[in-house]
Amino acid sequence: MSTFRTPRRRARLALAASITVAAALTGPVSQAAPSPSSAPSPGAAGLGDPMFPLDGNGGYKVSRYLLDFDWQAPKTPFEAATTIKATATQALSRFDLDFAGNTLHTVTVNGKAATAVRDGDELVITPAKPLAQGKAFTVQVTYTADPTQIRHRDDAIEDYGWIPTPDGTVLYPQPNGAKMIFPSNDHPSQRAPITFRITTPQGLTAVANGKLTDRTQQADGRVRWTYDSEQPLATQLAQLAIGRFTLVDSTGPHGLPIRDVVPDDLVAPTEQYRKLTADHIAWLEERLGPYPFNRYGVLVGDTDLGVALETNTLSLIPKADLLGDQVSAERNLVHELTHQWTGDSVGIKTWSDLWLSEGHARFYERLYSEAHGGVVFEDTMKTAYANHDQWRHDYGAPAEPTEPNLFKRMRYDGSALVLYALREKVGQETFGKIERAWVTKYRGKTASTQDYIDLASKVAGEDLDGFLHPWLYGAKTPPMPNHPDWVVNPVQS
Ligand SMILES: [Zn+2]
Repeated sequence: MSTFRTPRRRARLALAASITVAAALTGPVSQAAPSPSSAPSPGAAGLGDPMFPLDGNGGYKVSRYLLDFDWQAPKTPFEAATTIKATATQALSRFDLDFAGNTLHTVTVNGKAATAVRDGDELVITPAKPLAQGKAFTVQVTYTADPTQIRHRDDAIEDYGWIPTPDGTVLYPQPNGAKMIFPSNDHPSQRAPITFRITTPQGLTAVANGKLTDRTQQADGRVRWTYDSEQPLATQLAQLAIGRFTLVDSTGPHGLPIRDVVPDDLVAPTEQYRKLTADHIAWLEERLGPYPFNRYGVLVGDTDLGVALETNTLSLIPKADLLGDQVSAERNLVHELTHQWTGDSVGIKTWSDLWLSEGHARFYERLYSEAHGGVVFEDTMKTAYANHDQWRHDYGAPAEPTEPNLFKRMRYDGSALVLYALREKVGQETFGKIERAWVTKYRGKTASTQDYIDLASKVAGEDLDGFLHPWLYGAKTPPMPNHPDWVVNPVQS
């Protein structure tokens, strides 16, 4: 997401971050699996992420989500079903899904009624018969969806969940609001393709990640829209928008299909900046290689939402970002587009790796802006350097966020500064090779901070752990290579 505009402030208690679970993050899925003869046992309630320990679930892997939504009207409950195809990675007596709010109706496993108990944001499901390790199974959850559900964070995210618009909705699931929209494994390391089947009243358009595969007028006059995400995606990057939209088709580099989704009355006012997308893609392809997906587009949000979001193949850009000055508009557009490479295609393994996603997006956003009428990149990095000890004190080192400080400035300019320091250390040419290797090696995969350090070291031909570790984890900001005159301001506590 992008934080260019000044966030609205609201007093709110920080979420108590005291929950602990026994499972280590990679424990439930990568530990030596129990032998097939092991007695069935419960899947872990969470993956043990340092920020959100109960997000995601252990004991199975999702291979596809199918969402059936019968949309009615803005802020109006509607009937929904989510069907999940999964494979057990252990013999399961029961397992969890992440699910918040909504009105639960039924849960079946392999077509048979299952026991379901809600415990906070956990939906604990006990199938009629235990599930054998290695076996595929199907879960279906029916519910009345509540498209007014919104949560709030006191960092750059602000509101997340369902974001109502005058004639429909857009989604803002980051960081873990997908559980308000559909039962899921709501953690960025857990990626699966999504099929969306949405029915709407006539006159409305439904859009979602990926490709429109079918549009059918039903006997009752409603229209059914089917989308396939094409690639697996993290739940936090799911998009589903409904409204009175105009679809604006154009073509990017190498024939890439671009489809903007624009509220009818915003088509003309936003055109001058939307039409720059093909140039933005070409500029980023020079630095990061081929655009990683089959299509792209800008979804103009008819909302006063403060921030944009890099939903897979269809970035949500609030209308205000496209109705102001060009430098600001392009910063937001390039930021979310950069995420398609870093954050969407190359996903993060844990929330502590967020600096890799936001740092890259801010780095290229600022580089682009310098070349297109914005402020001088090095000046912004010098300012970030001056603030870096303060940010370490207030928000944690770049790769050591705390839950309430996850989306604070350290993850943006503070993390772009780490990439800048690396560029100063290894030189522009080697840095460019590291970046290309990063988005190539981990295309369509998740990767960690250590993966980045290891790859950078390999490409540079020198061990960069001793250089990057203090930048990413230290309490004090290291000296900036080539800039002995740069000064870090003292911490004010
Ligand atoms: Zn971002």
